[in-house]
Amino acid sequence: MSHYPNLLRPLDLGHTVLKNRVLMGSMHTNLEERGDWNRVAEFYATRARGGVGLMVTGGIAPNPEGGVFPGAGGLYSDKDMAHHRMVTDRVHEAGGKIAMQILHAGRYAYGPDCVSASAVKSPISPFPPKELDEEGIEKQIADIAATAGRAKEAGYDGVEIMGSEGYFLNQFLVTHTNKRTDRWGGSYENRMRLPIEVVRRVRETVGKDFIVIFRLSMIDLIPNGSTFDEVVQLAQEVEKAGASIINTGIGWHEARVPTIATSVPRRAFAWVTQKLMGKVSIPVITSNRINTPEVAEQVLAEGCADMVSMARPFLADPDFVAKAEAGRGDLIAPCIACNQACLDHTFQGKVSSCLVNPKAAFETEIVVEKAQTVKTVAIVGAGPAGLSTAITAAERGHKVTVFDRAGEIGGQLNMAKQVPGKEEFWGLVDWFRAMVAELEIEVRLDTTATAEMLEGFDEVVIATGVTPRDPQIPGQDHAKVLSYIDVLRHKAPVGDRVAVIGAGGIGFDVSEFLVTGESPTENLPDWMREWGVTDPAENRSGLAPEGPQPEPAIREVTLLQRKAEKPGKRLGKTTGWIHRASLQMKKVQMKAGVNYERIDDEGLHISFGEARERPEVIVCDNVILCAGQLSERSLADALEAKGVACHVIGGADVAAELDAKRAIDQGVRLAAGL
Ligand code: NAP
Ligand code: SF4
Repeated sequence: MSHYPNLLRPLDLGHTVLKNRVLMGSMHTNLEERGDWNRVAEFYATRARGGVGLMVTGGIAPNPEGGVFPGAGGLYSDKDMAHHRMVTDRVHEAGGKIAMQILHAGRYAYGPDCVSASAVKSPISPFPPKELDEEGIEKQIADIAATAGRAKEAGYDGVEIMGSEGYFLNQFLVTHTNKRTDRWGGSYENRMRLPIEVVRRVRETVGKDFIVIFRLSMIDLIPNGSTFDEVVQLAQEVEKAGASIINTGIGWHEARVPTIATSVPRRAFAWVTQKLMGKVSIPVITSNRINTPEVAEQVLAEGCADMVSMARPFLADPDFVAKAEAGRGDLIAPCIACNQACLDHTFQGKVSSCLVNPKAAFETEIVVEKAQTVKTVAIVGAGPAGLSTAITAAERGHKVTVFDRAGEIGGQLNMAKQVPGKEEFWGLVDWFRAMVAELEIEVRLDTTATAEMLEGFDEVVIATGVTPRDPQIPGQDHAKVLSYIDVLRHKAPVGDRVAVIGAGGIGFDVSEFLVTGESPTENLPDWMREWGVTDPAENRSGLAPEGPQPEPAIREVTLLQRKAEKPGKRLGKTTGWIHRASLQMKKVQMKAGVNYERIDDEGLHISFGEARERPEVIVCDNVILCAGQLSERSLADALEAKGVACHVIGGADVAAELDAKRAIDQGVRLAAGL
């Protein structure tokens, strides 16, 4: 009996059968634009080998004006055809199936030639779109249909027509962006004419035995979006027009509601997809924040959908399905929904990868093979850098011993997991623990490693992490002063009024911890209220008319930094706004450009600017120091002094801008070469 009977059940589409109910959702890796198609092919083939039922590629532009950015990958020339052939051949050899996503960005296209229903500029792009005329609309339809035809010729098993997330087809559907008065605008029948016509023409072009997925926005989360009746009507028309599957899209990119970040509860939107079940006869796929086989199974068992789409989880672990089939869900590297190495990279024009799995999209570069010579490897530090080195080294057959002076593995991850909205870090630590056990890595906890203890090992890796920076503020030895470690690790009691020194990642995390009572991430109705999300059947677009209704903060927090820039400016590109909005909702005061004058019984005394003007006292019960970190190198220095060779990685190597992404990447790369 399978552990996940619903998830692993085949799905018969008539002309073809998908081996399970798992779709790898579309992700833009930026690999196509780099021109290394062997690497693109290997990225998808690796995931096909891992057993996923069907994959969807990153968005491929139907024409230059519809590309997400100038030069976005398309399928125009014979050369493009040969490249895509490499992908489909390699996936088929690996026993997989793959559909190509056709993505017309409309007004989200980051270029001056962008087009849309009306000339309404998007708040997330500087380029106002040109309003298409009748001929222009026909050209877009023809280009999309022709691209579908070429996808079939290139060997794809299907296409996904991107109709959600606020892209081109979505822009015609709603009055927010469609101000037309001709046959493409006005009534809903007119506004949905374009997506339906696109599906009809695509089906006409590709013929009967070809998968056509339509990705449909079930809840727009923008003003003047669709009602749920309109969603159902569109789904039914899309089915009639020839779609084989309906996939779920949640929220436009410009929505001010988080939809995939780690603070979004797991399976937060499966209930929206469920509302469509029974209204169409083709399979319906649900998505967003589903990252374990247990959650996916539950969603299907409850009848929320016929199939589950997971995208980022396949960056974290390409063998997700194979491990689920083997009943080893505990060995699946979890996607923690941080966006740090995937979406943040995409938006920075870098190749997307994964914080948890740096091999993602680097399959041809980071190759982990059995070692020629088995070595003994000592690793000091059981944080992300040390553990990822240990796991990769052990996978290669080395005999690994890990030392840590703490009583548990995980290092700084154990602090991150205490922060409301970062509960996924529990799963990451659990995964490290499962892998350590599986690979029989020896772990010596409560052990302060010394140079003597490390003698005799073939390789020594120092991953001792960081120590808090001493900000040297007069009065910082006052009893009311605590460090982030006291608060997050040792759960020191904290008063009602707090000043947080340092507005970096940790200052934001500590503030979140201090103002939040029950984590809304653990309670979907609370989270929906907090962000103003409601049933789209009751309120158009799924936005609550009363707006966000956050729980009041449980403490008064002032978050400070010396730099004059906006606090939180350097947080993650796709998640920083969520952290800032979340603290603003809790009325956290943010002060930039401050000097810390002193701390005393009254509180924290500050002034502003070089001239130390506008002296002010922040009356508070506690001051929490989150002033950055320095490398913990004492052991590395002791070894070097003795002439013992060692590898220094993670925070012990460079503390500035350290995060788990760099730590894990460095660890895996080092171990791949040991
Ligand atoms: P950080 O991001 O470098 O922030 C350090 C903060 O301390 C800054 O606000 C800095 O601002 C302040 N500071 C620096 N020197 C100071 C001094 N001498 N006196 C007073 N204040 C001082 O470091 P962090 O917050 O410790 O975080 C460490 C790493 O973990 C970061 O790289 C971060 O990316 C990562 N992290 C990420 C997340 C995430 O959500 N992605 C969460 C937590 C941590 P001023 O110099 O302007 O005062
Ligand atoms: Fe998931 Fe973070 Fe990896 Fe992206 S980088 S796939 S969000 S764990």
